Amino acid sequence: MLFGALETGGTKMVCAIGNEKGEILEQVSIPTETPELTMPKVLSFYRDKKISALGIGCFGPIDLNRNSATYGHITTTPKTAWQYYDIVGIFERELGVPIGFDTDVNASVLGEYTWGAARGLNSCIYITIGTGIGVGVIADGGLLHGMLHPEGGHILLRKLPEDTYEGFCPFHENCFEGLAAGPAIEGRWGKKALDLEHSHRAWEMEAEYIAQALVNYTCILSPQRIILGGGVMHQTQLFPMIRDRFTKLLNGYLKTKELEDMNTFIVAQSLEDKQGILGALKLAMVELERNS
Ligand code: ADP
Ligand code: ZN
Repeated sequence: MLFGALETGGTKMVCAIGNEKGEILEQVSIPTETPELTMPKVLSFYRDKKISALGIGCFGPIDLNRNSATYGHITTTPKTAWQYYDIVGIFERELGVPIGFDTDVNASVLGEYTWGAARGLNSCIYITIGTGIGVGVIADGGLLHGMLHPEGGHILLRKLPEDTYEGFCPFHENCFEGLAAGPAIEGRWGKKALDLEHSHRAWEMEAEYIAQALVNYTCILSPQRIILGGGVMHQTQLFPMIRDRFTKLLNGYLKTKELEDMNTFIVAQSLEDKQGILGALKLAMVELERNS
């Protein structure tokens, strides 16, 4: 059986066809412009591919409440051309197959949970640190939603006294995303993150903010494992620094078998940056099952 998977992003739409085993058989990227320009190309990729369902991991905020009149819409996104766009509706009408729908980061955590670093667990989180920061959550074996869905990039952190950077989030001066996503590193130090030396103070500061956030997520969500992905986490020197600061900030408060080994509690994404598209594939499989 074939399934469609779509990962929508600010710069590109990753469109794929895969099977139940999590094998991606075909994949293309289409630039994200306006819905009028982009959607016909995306739709034509999936047409005639004989997919049984499509799963979408979507940038947000999005409406995931199946009882809402705007279910399946992208809602208050800063990408203005896509505000209140009915993305699930157009695929339902044009492809006539069940459409699974969730946030891009919930798709990523589902990918890792099904085929990657969180297999066999029942609570875990996936955090992407890239152009923005987002958090996907599996709690007690299911994706966490709530009134909307977690917006874990916008939790408020304790700013370091020496840090004079004002943050780039237009809503909050000291949220995680505003202080620690890729554009914050570049705004604070005036250099591309990629060009900062491994010994640069930037990375210690970055590890501090990430560790603060992970302590908060750990205390609230009680994950058995934390998976970190996104462009910034290609700086692998961050991992030991984050584990160290996390341990110091938690300060021995929790004692569990998971926390005994920081190398298996805080880990890197394990699916070669395909966790999002694989999670979207799984969303399609889940939606087909739900419909039958
Ligand atoms: P997106 O979040 O747009 O999907 P990425 O996860 O690749 O894309 O994140 C892009 C951001 O990550 C940019 O702000 C860039 O500065 C940063 N980034 C990408 N690659 C690296 C790297 N190797 N080292 C440090 N920062 C990186
Ligand atoms: Zn914010």
